Amino acid sequence: RVFEFHLSSIRIIFVLMNTKLQTPIDYLKGVGPHRADLLRKELGIQTYQDLLNFFPYRYIDRTRFYQIKDLQRHSAEVQLVGEITEIKEVAQKRGKRLVAKFRDETGTMELVWFRGQKWIKNQLKLHVPYIIFGKTNWYNNSFSMPHPEMELKPKDKKELKTGMKALYSSTEKLNNSGITNKVMTGMIQHLFLELKELLFETLPEYLINKEALLTKDKALLNIHFPKTTDLLARAQFRLKFEELFYIQLQLILKNLIHKSKIKGQLFETVGDHFNAFYKSHLPFKLTNAQKRVLKEIRADMGTGAQMNRLLQGDVGSGKTIVGFMSMLMAIDNGFQACLMAPTEILANQHYQGLKPWCDAVGIHIKLLTGSTKKKDRTPIHNALEDGSLQIIVGTHALIEDAVVFKNLGLAIIDEQHRFGVAQRSKLWKKNSLPPHVLVMTATPIPRTLAMSLYGDLDVSVIDELPPGRQAIKTVHRFDNNRLKVNAFLRDEIKKGRQVYIVYPLIQESEALDYKDLMDGFESISRDFPKPHYQISIVHGKMKATDKDFEMERFVKGETQIMVATTVIEVGVNVPNASVMVIESAERFGLSQLHQLRGRVGRGAEQSYCILMTSHKLSDHSKTRLETMCRTADGFEIAEVDLKLRGPGDLMGTQQSGILNLKIADIVKDKDILEHARYYAKFILDKDPSLGFKEHLPILETYRALMTYKNIWNYIS
Ligand code: ADP
Ligand code: MG
Repeated sequence: RVFEFHLSSIRIIFVLMNTKLQTPIDYLKGVGPHRADLLRKELGIQTYQDLLNFFPYRYIDRTRFYQIKDLQRHSAEVQLVGEITEIKEVAQKRGKRLVAKFRDETGTMELVWFRGQKWIKNQLKLHVPYIIFGKTNWYNNSFSMPHPEMELKPKDKKELKTGMKALYSSTEKLNNSGITNKVMTGMIQHLFLELKELLFETLPEYLINKEALLTKDKALLNIHFPKTTDLLARAQFRLKFEELFYIQLQLILKNLIHKSKIKGQLFETVGDHFNAFYKSHLPFKLTNAQKRVLKEIRADMGTGAQMNRLLQGDVGSGKTIVGFMSMLMAIDNGFQACLMAPTEILANQHYQGLKPWCDAVGIHIKLLTGSTKKKDRTPIHNALEDGSLQIIVGTHALIEDAVVFKNLGLAIIDEQHRFGVAQRSKLWKKNSLPPHVLVMTATPIPRTLAMSLYGDLDVSVIDELPPGRQAIKTVHRFDNNRLKVNAFLRDEIKKGRQVYIVYPLIQESEALDYKDLMDGFESISRDFPKPHYQISIVHGKMKATDKDFEMERFVKGETQIMVATTVIEVGVNVPNASVMVIESAERFGLSQLHQLRGRVGRGAEQSYCILMTSHKLSDHSKTRLETMCRTADGFEIAEVDLKLRGPGDLMGTQQSGILNLKIADIVKDKDILEHARYYAKFILDKDPSLGFKEHLPILETYRALMTYKNIWNYIS
């Protein structure tokens, strides 16, 4: 009973603390309604807690004193002690500048002012020790410091201003309204005075000890008022760790709850269709990665919980057959399966690819897209409803209300990025029990990102290409080499190969891009004249039937060149095409370039990817091109992409919530992330309901996070 009493008193304290932290910012000393309004509008700071978690974006190191002889040409801000020996005004093109000669025991430098000279000149004293602070320039063989911060050196050593000074991000409006960095710092000081006794620990003691973390109150104090650089680093580590820990905890909990609550179809048997296909009709030997993933999927679907799995595999890694064999498992257990693709071309290709395999083992399969004729639709709808149709391949048409399954057991979604979550869940609703869901994507998501975004999704990876693939040779060529490039294309076509030439199509400049495409098409037609050469063209403004017609001609080999916008980006499979030319390659993102390159190298021939650009290249463009030429590893490319673009951009706005991290950065802090995830897992493995006494801080913090969602809004 004593123990219980102790527990409940701790809980009361936690509740008190969390209530206090939710106090509106208006009540803080030195704030008041006007400032509170500004803080809310400009920085989104509503409560004490928001202000407490409004971490500085930068610090100025004032712990160290430099001497002039130690100055480096590219140093950050430095602090020196010395005296002024001379002051003069120097005329320059516009107005004057004020220059003071500054000296310490090791050398001399200049202090320079371009504004407010008159006032400053009157303030400056000669031959007394000053502490100056600022950024130095190297010019004319000597150092100078424009507009230094200065103060007279105090006689008493104790008064020396040392430590790290925090800088808070601000806005023009805040500055103009007098909420300067100093005022901000003052408000946070008041906040600490008010909260002092209430800053409770939010992580278990054993974890703090084991990882030698700063305690919560120390970490918060040192993030705002760091005593030393070392303490600052430890405070940052602790707070990043905590932030990532609670995200991981939430994701893992969500997954656990999902597994225990969302019942799924139980696939108990591996039956005839699967075995027949595996024994007699497998078109090639499966790679080890394919076998491993199949096992993972099979295990998932045999648990009685609903599978929610992401299958990642680079372009050409052979995801389709894995998907197909998973569908066989569904069928062998008396269920139907569907495969949904983002475009008609892709759906069509999947259908063409799967049809012979289905025929071989006696399974009914049909295609349903937007352009399926009305009279063909009705029998498909009926066959789905009475269960005689076992596999349906299609586009969004599959989630129309008219489509009703008898018993959908597995839904496979290819290239998930194109489908919203809402569409996905629509598929779910087609049964009393939700079907298992397998999402296949060729856009490799770096592990770190997958962990933080899909911590609640299981992930399988095909990390091995089928044998016998030749590496694609990738080169970067400038536009003025076009003649040579064209000669190369002619050689390849002579050998019987086919060529893609792709133009960018970015929505914002659609009209311009469209003109580029047409100009390009014209000049290609001139360089590769009929009747010797036949050219297909496919772009977004064409009617679907025309697109399919042109695609078809290329697939059949009737045309040697396919000029296209990025519509061919996803999934199209023409093994005889061995050259991919990408025009204005500097305008494509890395993952898009990688996807496009994946269209070639599907046959036995040596394949090539030629990245054409102008000479004007940004640093990012250069990095992208160089990465493409260096590696074909989708995960490596995705990591570079993540670094260049930042996580929000990579995932699209929908999932950009992860950008709302307060202090951690999932790219830079990926080690901390893994660490935090390890502990979150470790703790939940032992204590899934967080009922252990030592986990009370976690339980209470978690509860508070769930209650005050406004601070945790990045978790959907
Ligand atoms: P993706 O993962 O890009 O969807 P696909 O499933 O379209 O890749 O497979 C790419 C090509 O590789 C296809 O022509 C497919 O038949 C072939 N393929 C897949 N797995 C193997 C394998 N284990 N051995 C040989 N070829 C394979
Ligand atoms: Mg595919």
